[in-house]
Amino acid sequence: MNNDTICALATANGVGALGIIRVSGNEALNVVQKSFPSKKLEKQPSHTIHYGYFMDGDEVIDEVMLSLFLAPKSFTTENSVEIAFHGSPHIAKRILEVLIKNGARMAKAGEFTLRAFINGRIDLSQAEAIADVIASENEASRKVAISQLKGGITNEISILRTDLLNFVSLIELELDFAEEDVEFADRSALNILLKKIELKLNSLIESFQYGNAIKNGTAVAIIGKPNAGKSTLLNALLKEERAIVSSIAGTTRDTIEEILHLKGHAFRLIDTAGLRETQDEIEAIGVKKAKEKVEKANILVYLADAATEDFSEDIEMIASLLREDLKVIICATKIDEVSPDKYNQVENIFRSEINHSFDFITISALENQNIQDLKNELSSYVEQLKAGENNIVITNQRHYEALQKSLDAVHKVKEAVTFQISTELLAYELRNALEHLGEISGEVTNDEVLGNIFSKFCIGK
Ligand code: GDP
Repeated sequence: MNNDTICALATANGVGALGIIRVSGNEALNVVQKSFPSKKLEKQPSHTIHYGYFMDGDEVIDEVMLSLFLAPKSFTTENSVEIAFHGSPHIAKRILEVLIKNGARMAKAGEFTLRAFINGRIDLSQAEAIADVIASENEASRKVAISQLKGGITNEISILRTDLLNFVSLIELELDFAEEDVEFADRSALNILLKKIELKLNSLIESFQYGNAIKNGTAVAIIGKPNAGKSTLLNALLKEERAIVSSIAGTTRDTIEEILHLKGHAFRLIDTAGLRETQDEIEAIGVKKAKEKVEKANILVYLADAATEDFSEDIEMIASLLREDLKVIICATKIDEVSPDKYNQVENIFRSEINHSFDFITISALENQNIQDLKNELSSYVEQLKAGENNIVITNQRHYEALQKSLDAVHKVKEAVTFQISTELLAYELRNALEHLGEISGEVTNDEVLGNIFSKFCIGK
């Protein structure tokens, strides 16, 4: 491992009360000492804080506080110093320039965390969890990221892996004694273990759907004929959220999404760009456009104006959008204008015509009636995805793929046992399963995977 000394701004790049620059590596203390005459750093104990001036030669750059973390009790396990300065981007730039002049180099994206991983301080899934914690935007994503940071998934996997490893050793022993036709590994015990592993892997794999909802939010498409009340509903949904609503501009104006937070989960309202602005304009939303939106969605909220008489176009539109895994919520809106009899009748029409399960809600977006019912329906979609007893939730695509490959490998091992295939082949399949399980924690890894993971980090992490 190359322990040259790296430095980077760890806080956001912009004006703040304070900023922090991190320095880590063999020469971290020397590099900082050259610009910090106030104290002899190497005489100071670990985990102490020191006040003084940060100098460029004779010039005072800023008044700073240094936190010392001596090897191996630091994040990277190397000598590390954190310099807290007054949060001006200009001061940050000056301090970094001086540190580089003193012998450090700028850290690459994720390099501090990469060192923590390579030096054995954290495993790979924990390194990934750090990126997830930083990226978390709501309670649910923060919670799963923290549980992963604490080693959640690795603990579960490593128990299974250790059990499997015992069998691998026994099977390999059999290979050494191949001529004597002995069985050290009890095949029925192996079968029991394989079943246990299979169950665990399946439940982890299933949790990915929920994990995905946590990490990427649940995509919702609001569709309906012109004037059905879509933009009014959008406003009603986002009303209390105004302060935390964020618009994510995609590559084209068409993909603007607004985020609705409900019970700690994010709902992405897909492509609402046109909705608010075309308030007065009657803009027909074509079937093609509706289809594109719904294709990206987990939930379709279809708005039908309860005050109208003919629903054949609505029914046709819904029918053309249906998909097996799509949750459909039909909202009869403008109920302030009609009697309960009318909206019961509307429900009956949809129930008799639509060949797909759906929830039916009556709302008035204008008068803010029953909007909470719609919000509850949205939340219940995510609640249902929550895997029962499994408190570990997979949110990471790489883990998901590794789990799936492990499951395939376990199936092959099972086949090998059932059909009493040669011990060599059994050993091969077992090793294969072990390898895929090990990919999650990084016990088995390659440079390409590492490069891919750490390049997505920000500099300074
Ligand atoms: P969009 O074309 O689907 O986005 O429909 P709008 O939200 O622009 O609404 C069309 C018209 O219906 C506007 O004049 C709204 O004020 C009205 N509207 C929308 N929702 C309701 C409702 O719940 N009750 C009543 N009475 N009018 C509504």
